[in-house]
Amino acid sequence: MEAVPVVIVGAGPTGLTAATLLGQYGVECLVLDRWESVFPQPRAVHLDDEVYRVLARMGVAEQFAAISWPCHGLRLLGRDRRVLAEFGRGTATGRHGYPEANMFDQPVLEGILRANLARYTSVALRGNSEVTGVVQDGAGRVRVQVTDRVTGQDESILAEYVLGCDGANSLVRAAVGACLQDLHLEQRWLVVDVDTDADLAQWEGVHQLCDPDRAGTYMRVGATRYRWEFRLRAGESANDFGDPARLRPLISPWTGDLPVDRLRLVRLAEYTFRARLADRWRDRRVFLLGDAAHLTPPFIGQGLGAGVRDAANLAWKLAGVLDSTLPERLLDTYQRERKPHARALIRLARLVGMAMTEGGELGNLLRRLVAPRLYLVPGVARLVLSSETPALHGGELVIRSRLGRSLAGRLCPNVVLDDGRRFDDLAGGRFAVVTTSDASPDQRAEVARRGGVLVSARPGSPLHRWLRRGYATSAIVRPDSTVLRAGRDLSALCAGLPPFTPDHRSVTSRVGQASTAR
Ligand SMILES: Cc1cc2nc3c(=O)[nH]c(=O)nc-3n(C[C@H](O)[C@H](O)[C@H](O)COP(=O)(O)OP(=O)(O)OC[C@H]3O[C@@H](n4cnc5c(N)ncnc54)[C@H](O)[C@@H]3O)c2cc1C
Repeated sequence: MEAVPVVIVGAGPTGLTAATLLGQYGVECLVLDRWESVFPQPRAVHLDDEVYRVLARMGVAEQFAAISWPCHGLRLLGRDRRVLAEFGRGTATGRHGYPEANMFDQPVLEGILRANLARYTSVALRGNSEVTGVVQDGAGRVRVQVTDRVTGQDESILAEYVLGCDGANSLVRAAVGACLQDLHLEQRWLVVDVDTDADLAQWEGVHQLCDPDRAGTYMRVGATRYRWEFRLRAGESANDFGDPARLRPLISPWTGDLPVDRLRLVRLAEYTFRARLADRWRDRRVFLLGDAAHLTPPFIGQGLGAGVRDAANLAWKLAGVLDSTLPERLLDTYQRERKPHARALIRLARLVGMAMTEGGELGNLLRRLVAPRLYLVPGVARLVLSSETPALHGGELVIRSRLGRSLAGRLCPNVVLDDGRRFDDLAGGRFAVVTTSDASPDQRAEVARRGGVLVSARPGSPLHRWLRRGYATSAIVRPDSTVLRAGRDLSALCAGLPPFTPDHRSVTSRVGQASTAR
């Protein structure tokens, strides 16, 4: 029977990210997907700069820059299409080194990720492979049952760990007995993708039409690609809008007098947007990631990003455990950190969705009054005013101080260092100690012995300012760029640095090659 340390079920964006990041540590893994090649339907169209940063770590920043389009943010529009509120996003490079909001076409991104995977010799991707069962034996192994969709032959593969990245209808989720909890949003929407070489001359951000009668979304996705989404009324279906005469009134506020023959319909489909969260993300050696663990209505474009974040959170921990440099119990921090984060973004998406669709005439009145002041609502302010997502909490790998505003759980900014490289070029993929102090030879030796890297934050530098704002002089930054702990005692931080020595040299050199997009 074939045996492999890690089997990844599903080669969507989550599975491909997990495979790439594990491959960067030389971890042997096998990715299985039922389809031979990329699933061609357009779905996700937006990702933020935190997720872009993970793409850069995977070595595809330049390719993504070539296929993506910086977006100016989000506008809430009233029924009369007057702007109720605008939440701008910087199109220049932000604190992670990339534009804060980016539009793209999911199958094109998946094509890039698949091609990039070929660089990692420890990773194999097998298409036409339907996973039909995942069973854990008592001896610490997982048996994955697979059917070859071409030959019909059944096979079993033994794995030490299985990552269920198999999407919304996850078989792996069912196999570990996890359930999706309903976060109370379920709406049917019409999704329309159109290509045209005409310039629609609209504001280059996401337009959310807040009209309970017919909520809608418009956005430019690429040089010639446009996306509309409209809530379907009871009794309506996507088929009703296949006729251009019925579709046209919906999109004409944005297309104006443009003749229909200038628009090429790429796809018109019905989707049910849901808000759901799996109750358990781990059962012993099996993990759930991406849509298998959470379903996010796409109103703030965070579903795919959440899966990429899951993979970035788990990959280095798993590489450390497989390498025996990290204790197995640290794998419990995956769910503890990621689940509340995913829940917070699902709730925000639901809030935006309800703001667009609920309340009838009274709702319209409230929207006119409340939307321009949304930034005053505690908690919502940070999320609408910046692309920064909530801090991670809980467990041994995020240790928050009781003093001041802790940096722990937040991402270290990907600033340009004195030598011109970005922070991730130097530190990405391993632990770093960032400090304003002059480290002693002993402290340097301690950090190196534990597989980490010391990063100096000289006075006046962006890292110095960042530490000062967090009332700290030093911080431990994890391989996924999250701050583990910050404080003022460099010796204590060096002594608290987890030993982490999987082969990361290949990571930094690869990151270095491809980190300078834009
Ligand atoms: C209309 C729409 C708009 C969206 N917009 C956005 C957006 O703007 N931004 C955003 O971030 N997200 C958006 N999303 C969500 C995003 O598309 C998903 O969150 C993302 O695709 C999830 O990635 P995944 O890899 O977890 O799962 P999937 O993309 O579903 O991939 C799962 C993979 O597993 C494979 N698989 C499943 N079962 C098996 C099996 N038994 N055996 C073998 N293989 C299997 C499938 O073939 C598939 O390749 C949108 C979604 C929709 C529908």
